[in-house]
Parts: sequence; C-alpha cells; structure tokens
Amino acid sequence: VGCHACFVACKEENQVAPGVKWNHLERLEHPAEEVIEYFRVSCMHCENPACMKVCPVKAVYFGPHGEVLIDQKKCIGCKGCLAACPYGAPKFSDPNKQSYYGDLKPLGGRSASPAWTTRIPGKAEHCTLCTHRTSQGRLPACVEVCSTKALQLVDYDNPTDAQKALIAKAQIINKDAGTSPKIRFISSITDFGAMKVKA
Ligand code: SF4
Repeated sequence: VGCHACFVACKEENQVAPGVKWNHLERLEHPAEEVIEYFRVSCMHCENPACMKVCPVKAVYFGPHGEVLIDQKKCIGCKGCLAACPYGAPKFSDPNKQSYYGDLKPLGGRSASPAWTTRIPGKAEHCTLCTHRTSQGRLPACVEVCSTKALQLVDYDNPTDAQKALIAKAQIINKDAGTSPKIRFISSITDFGAMKVKA
C-alpha cells in the first residue's frame, strides 16, 4: 500500500546513516487497469552474486541462510561491487559517520550499540536481510512490520505449500543480469523480468 513502513523499519533497526538507504519503494502506475503497485527494492541476495565475483579481498560472503553479506573489516572500499551489481545495491556511507547518529554513542541508554547498528565508514554496506534477527528465528524488520503481509520470508529449501504457490508465481527483476536474485516479486500486471531498477 506504499506506507513506507519497511523503509522506516530498516532505518530504525539497522540505524542506517542519513543519506543511505538499504531499501526503498518503487511505484508503478497502470492507468488502463486503474492499479498502482508498490514494490520494495534492496540488495537482491543473489544466488550468483556479481559483487562476490569482483571483490578482490573476498569481503562478500554468504550468511547462514544464503543472504549476501559484506565483511567490512575486509572491505577496502574499492567500490568494485558497486560497479558490478546490476541492482545498484552496495552503498557507501559518509566516511565520518558510523551509524545514524554518526558516532559511537550508545542509543537509548544502552551500554553499547548493537553490532548491526554500526558500520565502518567508507566501506560497502547493504541490506543484510536482518541476519542478526533471522539467526534468532525472527523475521527481518521490514517483513515483520508490513501490515498487509506484502512482504514474506520464504525458505526456498523447505517451503510450505502456501510458499510453494508464491514461489511458482514469483518473478525476478532484470532477469538478463544473470545473478539469480532470491528477492522475487509477484504481480499479475508487471513484467519484472524486463525491468531495470536501482536499489
Ligand atoms: Fe551482490 Fe548486487 Fe546481487 Fe546484492 S543485488 S547480492 S550486491 S549482485
């Protein structure tokens, strides 16, 4: 419904720095059908990630659920992944800002900021699929907050019958890019395969 709750939830959960967004909403108008569609764009967590192939220091790796993650301690900030990614997913934060508040001060009276809310300035970053939450059996923040359940987290290796039906209908954006994104989209109107979108 275009409420942007997923965008806000990601910002809040991960304390993504000002000027950097890990996800955003795209809007599509279909006048003939009198339909407006919104869809969330982020790192697509590809099965065959272009970013991983070009990283000279092997800073890009698969997390425990197949999510594509960046080891910022290894990243040298060369921006090769930015050039290689067909979805424009990797971002670079302000070299002077490590989190939303731009310093290491703990938030909300905590003794230390959680690791997933701070990043090393000037290194690549993007959606982690909230790996810190999924590792505890929780949903990514964007999925949890979606009031219409437009966002669903699906276990491709062990889908329920309902999830199998979703997978059968799901499309990938920019299919010709050849990276096999795991983030997929359902629409009866839009041909996502031919679409080019930047995260
Ligand atoms: Fe890598 Fe881009 Fe695919 Fe994300 S969308 S896994 S950054 S190639």
